[in-house]
Amino acid sequence: MRKVSIFGATGSIGQSTIDLIARAPDTYDVVALTGGHNIDLLARDAIRLKADVAVTAHEQNLPALRDALSGSGVEAAAGPAALEEAAQRPADWVMSAIVGAAGLLPGLRALENRATLALANKESLVTAGPLIMATAHAHHAKILPVDSEHSAVFQGLVGEEMDAVERIIITASGGAFRDWPLEKLATATLAQASAHPNWDMGQRITIDSASMFNKALEVIETKEFFQVSPDQIEVLVHPQSLVHALVGFNDGALMAHLGAPDMRHAIGYALHWPNRRDLPVDRLDLAKIGQLDFRAPDDRRYPALRLAREVMQAGGLTGAVFNAAKEIALDGFIAGQIGFMDMAGVVEEAMMRLSADSALIHAAMTLDNVQAADHMGRITARELIDAAH
Ligand code: NDP
Repeated sequence: MRKVSIFGATGSIGQSTIDLIARAPDTYDVVALTGGHNIDLLARDAIRLKADVAVTAHEQNLPALRDALSGSGVEAAAGPAALEEAAQRPADWVMSAIVGAAGLLPGLRALENRATLALANKESLVTAGPLIMATAHAHHAKILPVDSEHSAVFQGLVGEEMDAVERIIITASGGAFRDWPLEKLATATLAQASAHPNWDMGQRITIDSASMFNKALEVIETKEFFQVSPDQIEVLVHPQSLVHALVGFNDGALMAHLGAPDMRHAIGYALHWPNRRDLPVDRLDLAKIGQLDFRAPDDRRYPALRLAREVMQAGGLTGAVFNAAKEIALDGFIAGQIGFMDMAGVVEEAMMRLSADSALIHAAMTLDNVQAADHMGRITARELIDAAH
């Protein structure tokens, strides 16, 4: 039996992971499931999968979780320390699918524990890429990408030498507003930004797809995970979301990975790696699809992509500031305090203000320093939003 834990079990990726695990209950021994506010779902899955422990990130939810688990034999726990403790329990495979920078610490602890980390939480690599990679290296732990683009690149690199890789192209659907006139973008509402044309995902990543902040995070994630230079990474708008990524080699070959837009493919690949197993995902009928479209992204429509390049150029802890400011700007948009196109302005201004603080930005890549940069990114972005509101 493989011991598995799922961090962010109540979310979109967590539920797709549970869907795969629940199909083979005799194969997996579930150690920990974690969630946030969705206590009913967390308790239901913990009981159904016979988890050792269910953890909610929020202390105030502990009584409700205890109630829901009473008599089941599943332990209930709450709060950041409980999340950390759950990540330290022995497990062979850990899904990191908490949304936002909150996913960093459990992921680090799982790696220290030598678990294989299936990494959906791209924010971990954006905020602390070198720390995550060094931790994996030091503890001989494996990280497997779960983002569909990075899983596609990872699969395209099987058997290849990194020296032969010229470029990595990750595709983007273009999000909810890819065909809107530029001048209309400022008026985009929360409901409009929360509807993705192709993928069914959590609300935050769906809005980040519309603004391309999600792709900006993924560009940085690509640099950190595959250790390539920023100028080797390209973004291509591909409205059908069927080609997830392409790897370009030094002989001119371009290897593309295609699949239905269903996260269970990338999750299943990470779950069964290094093997492939049958997965309950649609098979593509290319004759029926007929046509695949590609176009270059427009920087005016997607300023987040330019900011990602600036983050990579600036280096140090700029990624932590960028991600934190982005999370706060997104909160501001969701709360109706700033408009859709104001998010990039808040992030850019926060990055600019903090870039002068060399002691913060160029401090050593330790967890404390990452958290300090994250904290300052949040405070600065919050001040900017409050001033604008
Ligand atoms: P969701 O919003 O659907 O789920 C997020 C999960 O994290 C939930 O379990 C939520 O609990 C929990 N959570 C929220 N806040 C905290 C916190 N502060 N501390 C601990 N747990 C918390 O997100 P997704 O599943 O869409 O995305 C998860 C991660 O995977 C993100 O990093 C995203 O970028 C990445 N990803 C997602 C893809 C997708 O298709 N959805 C594709 C590729 C990557 P609760 O809901 O109970 O409050």
